[in-house]
Amino acid sequence: MARQYNFRKRVMVTGGAGFLGSHLIDRLLDQGHEVLCVDNLFTGAKLNIDHLRTHERFEFLRHDVTMPLYVEVDEIYNLACPASPIHYQHDPVQTTKTSVHGAINMLGLAKRTGAKIFQASTSEVYGDPAVHPQPEDYWGYVNPVGPRSCYDEGKRCAETLFFDYRRQHGLGIKVARIFNTYGPRMHPADGRVVSNFIIAALKGEPIPIYGDGSQTRSFCYVDDLVEGFLRLMATDDAVTGPINLGNPGEFSMRELAEKVIAITGSKSEISHLPLPQDDPRQRQPDISRAKATLDWQPTVALDEGLVRTVEYFRRFA
Ligand code: NAD
Ligand code: UDP
Ligand code: UDP
Repeated sequence: MARQYNFRKRVMVTGGAGFLGSHLIDRLLDQGHEVLCVDNLFTGAKLNIDHLRTHERFEFLRHDVTMPLYVEVDEIYNLACPASPIHYQHDPVQTTKTSVHGAINMLGLAKRTGAKIFQASTSEVYGDPAVHPQPEDYWGYVNPVGPRSCYDEGKRCAETLFFDYRRQHGLGIKVARIFNTYGPRMHPADGRVVSNFIIAALKGEPIPIYGDGSQTRSFCYVDDLVEGFLRLMATDDAVTGPINLGNPGEFSMRELAEKVIAITGSKSEISHLPLPQDDPRQRQPDISRAKATLDWQPTVALDEGLVRTVEYFRRFA
């Protein structure tokens, strides 16, 4: 498997200055590829790619994917899209445009160049799931008109576009449904649960649990996820996904808060705030398909990943 992605390609990563994109770029450069990072810096930060500024095989282009883009590349990872609820709800129309117009432009680019194209889809396509854990053939339970819809329906429409470009134009597509992922370079102010809890714990402030904390999520460490991206991209043309990528370990938000308090040695108390509208009750990936197709499964346990993430966040506390 490793050999297949070991020779030099021109790889474009949209959303490359974000949390996941910047880690992906590090791996692609390590493998010897040329990388074009395309990002409008809406939620991403130059800081995430600052260490690459003088790298000879790295190039940054400030660009909004809702606008056409003409470049020559061999592979495209389409990650551009705000991912945290407070960011994607800040300008919901722009969020849908990014997912839908962004997908159309990147698919158009892939069609013209013959590039393979990867889509960062999400477990949010399952909505507040009525099936647990979620396999890829579950169609989801999504509110089309709620505050999360700009993201959920935008990502669902992007998947539709990917599969129609495949059926209509024969594109090589790879659709990954990513479950909650955490690690260094998460945006400290994007309101996601892992970063919020760690920052509160390090500052000795109350840990903000929304609702009673019984809702569950499954948290994947970023290095594991990026390995899954690379393996999916390296599969042969018949493999299109959708394919779940995430860590099946399932924890309630109360359990997560207790882990963060223990790891940081914090004296923070837990506080309860209102549960946001349409907040999914539970989420856990069924990763049988990823195991069988990619020989992939996460290797970093939540406690270990949290220790590494806490180290990163100390600079913000
Ligand atoms: P992020 O916010 O850190 O990164 C997204 C990047 O996209 C940012 O750098 C942002 O500036 C850029 N971007 C946003 N709109 C753009 C536009 N119109 N044109 C160009 N660039 C634009 O989020 P992330 O966690 O790194 O997520 C990356 C991708 O993975 C997203 O598509 C997200 O939906 C998906 N995803 C992430 C998770 C997770 O847990 N982190 C889970 C499921 C799916
Ligand atoms: N596109 C792009 N870069 C390219 C090729 C296409 O940004 O290299 C955009 C183009 O603006 C178009 C979209 O991708 O609106 C979809 O392209 P496609 O060829 O599928 O559609 P068409 O141009 O026929 O509408
Ligand atoms: N959450 C929380 N406190 C926070 C941020 C989030 O209790 O400070 C909860 C949120 O209500 C949700 C879960 O943690 O049930 C995961 O939230 P996040 O925004 O990280 O991801 P998503 O809801 O998109 O899975």
